[in-house]
Amino acid sequence: MRHALQFSFVTSLNVFIDGTWLLNQLAGGRSLANATDRPDSRFFLDFTKLNAALIRHLAAHGHGCNTVGELAISTSVFSLPADFDSWPSRYPGITPSQLEKMKRAVYARDQLIREAVEGGYSEAGVYRPPLREWILRKVVKGDYQEKQVDTTVVALLVRSAVTRPSDFHTVITGDSDILPAVSTAYPQFTKNVFVTTTHPDELRAEHRQTAYSLIDFAFTIPPFYMQNKENAEQIIRGTHVHRCQECGRVFTTGSPIPPRQRARCVKCRPTAPKRRT
Ligand SMILES: [Zn+2]
Repeated sequence: MRHALQFSFVTSLNVFIDGTWLLNQLAGGRSLANATDRPDSRFFLDFTKLNAALIRHLAAHGHGCNTVGELAISTSVFSLPADFDSWPSRYPGITPSQLEKMKRAVYARDQLIREAVEGGYSEAGVYRPPLREWILRKVVKGDYQEKQVDTTVVALLVRSAVTRPSDFHTVITGDSDILPAVSTAYPQFTKNVFVTTTHPDELRAEHRQTAYSLIDFAFTIPPFYMQNKENAEQIIRGTHVHRCQECGRVFTTGSPIPPRQRARCVKCRPTAPKRRT
């Protein structure tokens, strides 16, 4: 039976996520949240739906792809030391509120990783460096730079593309500076690799030091822009997902909207008429 598989025609989509970037994009106030009727709240991404939407994106551009192949998320999450709670009393200048902020950040990353794993993603590219006092001080000052995530995403993507050249491969990132390395290691990238990101204008605004633009690379498969409303609608978590007929924003409801009722988000729903006195 295993032998027969070699002759079957299976083309897979392999997906590699820069989890650090993705978590930032899912925050309230960012582009994905802005596609919904709750722009100030976190966007809840459904990774299983995302996988299906990416396969549909390939189909829409004329590429038959049956299933997902390798799925991996890379990010870095600090391991907090057992004595972390005593740091404010041991180290001058470290405050309980800095500790709480760090704990919330670690929790948010762990939660994203759990959700990705539920969607079939491997966490082999997740690093858990121990948090040290000097690192916390850098994080507080905003000078801490994560290094390992972009290089891991490039390594995973290139390994996938080189070992499975008849498959499709996508990288979920906002950092177009990884693309020169991809094109050097895998010059055929234009035919079966594509980028999944948010809108290029936002990419430029957020990464002012980015030397390259997506347009500099001749991808034949166009990028999948997650925050476009028709795409956000496909990847948001929830059983009953709608597009507002008034403003186009995406919203979810706990139960289906009755067939004769218009789909209207919380902002566009008429408020109860004011009672005349
Ligand atoms: Zn609306």
